Amino acid sequence: MYYSKLLIPTLRDDPADAETISHKLMLRAGLIRKVASGIYSLLPLGLRVLSKVENIVREEMNKAGAQEILLPALQPAELWEETGRWDKYGKELMRLTDRHDRNFCLGPTHEEVITDLVRREVKSYKTLPINFYQIQTKFRDEIRPRFGLMRGREFLMKDAYSFDADLEGAKKTYQAMYEAYHKIFQRVGLRFRAVEADSGLIGGSSSHEFMVLAQTGEDEIASCEKCEYAANIERAELTAGDLPSSESAPKMEAVSTPEQKSVEAVSRFLDVSANQLLKTLLFVADEKPVAVLVCGDHEINEVKLKKLLGAEALALADHDTVKRVTNGPSGFSGPVGLTGLEIIGDFSVQSKAEYVVEANKEDTHYLHAVPGRDFSVSRYADLRNAVHGDPCPRCEASIKIDRGIEVGHVFMLGTKYSEKMDATFLDRNGKSQHFVMGCYGIGVSRIMAAAVEQNHDERGIVWPQQIAPFDVEIIPIQEKSEVVMIAATTIFETLKRKNIEVLFEDRKERTGVKFNDADLLGIPIQVIIGQRNLEDGLAELKERKTGEKILVPLDDIVKEVTKRCC
Ligand code: ATP
Ligand code: MG
Repeated sequence: MYYSKLLIPTLRDDPADAETISHKLMLRAGLIRKVASGIYSLLPLGLRVLSKVENIVREEMNKAGAQEILLPALQPAELWEETGRWDKYGKELMRLTDRHDRNFCLGPTHEEVITDLVRREVKSYKTLPINFYQIQTKFRDEIRPRFGLMRGREFLMKDAYSFDADLEGAKKTYQAMYEAYHKIFQRVGLRFRAVEADSGLIGGSSSHEFMVLAQTGEDEIASCEKCEYAANIERAELTAGDLPSSESAPKMEAVSTPEQKSVEAVSRFLDVSANQLLKTLLFVADEKPVAVLVCGDHEINEVKLKKLLGAEALALADHDTVKRVTNGPSGFSGPVGLTGLEIIGDFSVQSKAEYVVEANKEDTHYLHAVPGRDFSVSRYADLRNAVHGDPCPRCEASIKIDRGIEVGHVFMLGTKYSEKMDATFLDRNGKSQHFVMGCYGIGVSRIMAAAVEQNHDERGIVWPQQIAPFDVEIIPIQEKSEVVMIAATTIFETLKRKNIEVLFEDRKERTGVKFNDADLLGIPIQVIIGQRNLEDGLAELKERKTGEKILVPLDDIVKEVTKRCC
């Protein structure tokens, strides 16, 4: 392919509205252009990378026995009403009406559509297990679209849905997908980790996320320093402590804490450590207020809380609710005297006998407040985020926290959707049973961004070979020299015949510009043809990743390139 014939609009400077490295570099290397918030066009080089990722995904899914299909992006509301998700999915669902005023949405995921297809077409256990996948554009009206392709409102996903006759079978299918995912991410060339995950909106009993390790990742991963345990921080299990004896605790007393609002300010003012303070957070779970207590040095994890309460909706209480429930202003809530709502303590609260707590009025705290004596706690539970140094739930070693980008997710769905949509088959005994389902997503376009996030240097992108837009870039310098162009063209044609993907830098640009753009584009191998080396029968081969340059005899260049990219 000739460089001059492709649209590769490289930019010299970082675009102002790009925050992460991958977003900046994908714009600068001319892979993508923004159309609107979270909506991008893929330019020729971007599409080449995307197609390579897609093909790896497709090959491994086919090998794992899944069948490729293509479901519609436009979906009727009726199907979503059957599962209750028309209401539950909230604002992320892109809704529209047709000319007859019927409601539709643009699919953010396809459980409803596939379950409808299978309940109509699959009648017998003899057809099971069956696993369908598609690679298709998804639509989600994300609250914060950002980082380019990383969190778009329109993006490419591979989604798969499996149907088994029983749980045993479903577990095997899940395991096969889990293994296929490992192969996919290995082939794409990413450093990743599979972690235990919360099952989120889609629901179900078991799930793993595949995380690409990167500083800019939006997710946090808790992993053991010693054993194999790794989990999304939303899921990482923390255990109960032993409540120490409070017999020697002095009587509770009120103290004045004027203008001391934050945990840091109060702990400095009273000269106590942050974990001696108790934070009281008021939430509304499915319209019911609930108070949650956690030590001052920890954060409540809303995913864990929502799960504990089995709530559909959870949010921090607004000012009016706080006032009604505590009789005090918001920002000053404490557990003493609270009635008429459940008070739940995080396990961390079991670590100390007494605490400093807010007093439901401005500028006042209580010292020596003892759980069970001065305020009630109806139950203790695992409600906080794991932090560095927490004990591993599997062994006695401690946990470290890393950041990651979720590129894939496997869920065991069970019969959640098949029951709601009454999707059944006849088992061996002629009895009607609900399908046991699993679903498996991969963020195909997000992988591109994650790959750049993990593979770049100060000069630009360094594509993993398997997903690079081209294998080799040939850069003739002194393009006016006939011998240079003949040598370059000969190498170009020979490599092409060997099915190696070659970008021929035929632009009339300064050499410096060509070199800079080549490093920015990040094609793994550069072959530089210059007059002086040609006189010695040599060409220069540069490896983008290491910057290593070697001189290779012209006769060997094709062999050398082939060796490196196949
Ligand atoms: P996240 O927590 O990042 O919002 P999710 O849990 O909503 O992800 P899934 O519903 O499991 O994601 O979707 C499957 C895969 O699709 C994810 O693992 C991720 O790689 C990708 N994905 C999800 N949302 C987006 C998005 N807005 N833009 C690009 N890729 C996405
Ligand atoms: Mg999401």
